[in-house]
Amino acid sequence: MNKTKRDTQTMDYITKQGRWGRKMLLLYWVIIAVHFIVQLGSYLFLDYPATPYEFYVGTLIVPTLIMCGSNLLAELAHHKCNRFSFVIQFVASTVICWMIIRLNYDIRIITALCLLPIFSSVLFFNRRLIWLSFILQIVVFFLLLAIDGSFRAYLSPFDIVATPTFLMMSTFLALIIQDSGRDLLVDLYKTQHAQQELMISNAIISKMSMTDGLTKLYNHLSFQTFYEKALEYAKQGAIIHLAVVDIDNFKKINDTYGHQFGDKILEGISQIITEQITANDIPARYGGEEFAILMFEHTFEEAYQIVECIRREVEKMTFGEKMQSVSVTVSIGLKSYSEEMNKDTFFQGADDYLYQAKRTGKNKIVAELNHIA
Ligand code: GH3
Ligand code: MG
Ligand code: MG
Repeated sequence: MNKTKRDTQTMDYITKQGRWGRKMLLLYWVIIAVHFIVQLGSYLFLDYPATPYEFYVGTLIVPTLIMCGSNLLAELAHHKCNRFSFVIQFVASTVICWMIIRLNYDIRIITALCLLPIFSSVLFFNRRLIWLSFILQIVVFFLLLAIDGSFRAYLSPFDIVATPTFLMMSTFLALIIQDSGRDLLVDLYKTQHAQQELMISNAIISKMSMTDGLTKLYNHLSFQTFYEKALEYAKQGAIIHLAVVDIDNFKKINDTYGHQFGDKILEGISQIITEQITANDIPARYGGEEFAILMFEHTFEEAYQIVECIRREVEKMTFGEKMQSVSVTVSIGLKSYSEEMNKDTFFQGADDYLYQAKRTGKNKIVAELNHIA
């Protein structure tokens, strides 16, 4: 895997983790709000054994402020997004959960709330985070047991053994869930990767099937597709020119210098064509040593200028010291589309001009009669 791809995946991973971190923070804000409402409701509407001062200060306001402060710290850590932000987030969630457990330990099921940080750590596919959550819960549990007499008094010996055991079992379960999630993620990445590779090889195959191996220009078949499409545009008013380019006396060059040298000439001329045309134009190797160029949105003068540059550049082409004397030229037929033409007559027109150029001396362009060079 190259560096850029790995960086993108890491960024992707961090962004996703950030999103889950955000959701976790939101969950704890909801928990704090629900706890506040339930406490207030219980005090106002149920038989709540506390004085207004004990309730409002000791049970409602101070604990809510501590919980809000913890979650606010977690928010700040989340925004900073450094390597301690998850640790701070999990410490904050532990504080919130145990604050609620401590305030409501008479509700026996409430201890189960300390499983929340353990199970939410699964979301981040990080074993160390799961163990950290477990340790935090165990530490707070035994700390409360040691320093808080009323909490200790409420727990039976069975609770004191069962709670850490229960936390341990839940941590193992969280680790298993995390492992299976991670396997799933790896499979998903592999499938995605295989799919991307398939898409790339499809694109390469499709490009290869459209272009000619030697010159890298479009091949005859793909040219036909473009040509038909271009004719449709031309019928709707688009300005189109067609140039047919043929190498002069190529057979002789091949016979004299060999086919390999001939291939080099084909490559060189293709490069000249590619350099001289604009991005709107479509160059193709129409046949053996014949090229076709579809030109869009040029005036006749501009199209003529382009093919004239091609002709001149080919004439100037050089091939290493030994071959300096080889003279390579091309003849070109250039035709503008007009509405009475069809697919065949348009091409035939350009081809006729090409043969006119061949008959009248080669190394020239024949376009409309008054443009014979
Ligand atoms: P003209 O000026 O009238 O076009 O003459 P010409 O010799 O260029 O034309 P002719 O049609 O007689 O010969 C074309 C030659 O092009 C014959 C063939 O060997 C050569 N040719 C076609 N395709 C390739 C190719 O891919 N590589 C090489 N080296 N030669 C090729
Ligand atoms: Mg030729
Ligand atoms: Mg030919």
